[in-house]
Formats: sequence, C-alpha cells, structure tokens
Amino acid sequence: MVIIQERLDLVRFNVDREPHIRVNREACKRCPSKPCLYICPAGLYTLSDGELLHSYEGCLECGACYVVCPEQAIDWDYPKGGYGVCFRTA
Ligand code: SF4
Repeated sequence: MVIIQERLDLVRFNVDREPHIRVNREACKRCPSKPCLYICPAGLYTLSDGELLHSYEGCLECGACYVVCPEQAIDWDYPKGGYGVCFRTA
C-alpha cells in the first residue's frame, strides 16, 4: 500500500526566487467557486477574509490549478530549468 505522506517526504524543492505561478486578483474575485482551493494536492491555495492567497514554493507541478480555473486567473508555467520539484522513488 502506498502512503501518500511517505511519498511526499521524498519530494524536494529547488525554489526559484521568481514565482512560476501568478494569480490575477481581479479575475479571481469574479469566481464564486474557486476550485483551486480543492484541487491542489499540495494545498497551496487558501482563503483569508475572502481573499485568495497562494504560494508557489511547494508546487508539485501537476498544472491542475491552471486547468480548473474558470476565470483563467492563474498564470502558470513550469519553473525555469534546474528549479522546482524533484521526485525521488526511494
Ligand atoms: Fe497545486 Fe498542482 Fe497548481 Fe502546483 S500545479 S499549485 S501542485 S494544483
């Protein structure tokens, strides 16, 4: 049986200072459902006083937030070469 936390413990990040995820706050305000809050496996999107907050440092690079955003408010690209997530199998 695969235990997800054990797998995530193997993940490492080489974080770029320049974010690879940007959110258009005005477009985001128009979205009533904010599916990014539920789809992100890393839990990088949160609400604070009704305003969306996000971070990019722990991004697993699945692209799900970009795909599900109904307002196209998320500007997403892979991190520059050498940066981002590093998956190990053991
Ligand atoms: Fe979360 Fe995946 Fe979006 Fe990264 S790409 S912020 S892991 S949903």
